[in-house]
Formats: sequence, C-alpha cells, structure tokens
Amino acid sequence: MELSSGNGYRPHTEITRREGHSKQQLVDLEGAERAARGLLLALGADLDSPGLRDTPRRMAAAYGDMLTPEPFSLTSFPNDEGYDELVVVRDIPFQSLCMHHLLPFHGVAHVGYLPAERIVGLSKLARVVEFFARNLQLQERLTTEIAECLQTRLEPKGVGVVLEAEHLCMSLRGAEVNGARTVTSALEGIVRDDPRTREEFLSLTLRRSR
Ligand SMILES: [Zn+2]
Repeated sequence: MELSSGNGYRPHTEITRREGHSKQQLVDLEGAERAARGLLLALGADLDSPGLRDTPRRMAAAYGDMLTPEPFSLTSFPNDEGYDELVVVRDIPFQSLCMHHLLPFHGVAHVGYLPAERIVGLSKLARVVEFFARNLQLQERLTTEIAECLQTRLEPKGVGVVLEAEHLCMSLRGAEVNGARTVTSALEGIVRDDPRTREEFLSLTLRRSR
C-alpha cells in the first residue's frame, strides 16, 4: 500500500508480510510441532527423556520466529538539502536460514544508497535486511531482495548491498571451511553503472580483510 501526499512524495511505503514471499504460507505452529516430533523420532531421539520432551514445541516456535518477517513502514523524508553523496550503513548484523539445510547463516550487511528525492531513516535499512532475512533463504537471493526493495520503494539514484556471512551448513560439517565467510553483492542504478560511484561504494564496504 502506498500513502501519497499531493506532489507524489510518499512519506511511508508499507512493507507487508507477504512482500516477496507470495508463495510462502504463513507458519502453522501445530503442524510444525507434529513434523518436528516426526523428524526427531526419525533421527533417533528419545522424546520421553526430560530434556527432549518439549523440544518439538520449542523447535516449532524457534523456526516460526525465524520465518515470520515483521511488517513495517519504510519511512522517508524529502531530500531538502539536496544531499548527493552515498549514504552507507555498515555492519548491520543479520541471521537467516539456509533453504538447503535449514541451518543458520549469519553475518553482517552493508547497505548504501545514493539519494534522489527522498532520504530514508537509517534504522529502516536494518529493518529491510531483517525483513528479508526471516525466510528460507539463499545469501545471493537475500542480497538481491534487499537491493531491489530499496530501489523500487525509495527510488534513489542507486543502491548497493554487500553481505558477508558464515554458513553453519559449511562450517559445522568440514573443519577446513570453519570461519569461512561468503561475500555477495547486489548493485542497482548509478551504484552499478557509474564506475566512480561503484568503486566508492565497494571501497567503503569491502575495504577490510579479515
Ligand atoms: Zn546450506
């Protein structure tokens, strides 16, 4: 839903729960608990032991929480000062669930944009990251969804998103890749097309080696 004020300037653009996830059903906690019980039994767990008795319910609640994005309003303001340089928020922590293994991947996001008519509250950049992270995800897709959401909703001159994450499905199962971080980027508009802006964004976000 778009709320419009006379000149076409939209102070709020609502990010609803089904944004980008139109094929995903809402979480059925009871069904998830039954399925978790079945999974644990199939994995050889003794569900009569005191420590495991409530595990199916806790699993369902934990996954339900990680897979339920919070709707929010992407509040923006007129760019009255005509600010025309990159705005970059670095090191936004995030966690998500890998759609191939249902194990977490976690790390930091660096999100930047080049303002046009509107500027956005900086905390909203973190909200966008969290919103799309609460889904069964691929890091590549998460990166693209964040960039496309900002580009279409805020209509800036450009957007850049870099994600650095550790995937537990990699690090838990092979000692060699423990601590390895995967880096993905998605660039839109001038941040993608103008070599100077692109270079500036990438140097602000990729400069550190770990
Ligand atoms: Zn995985």
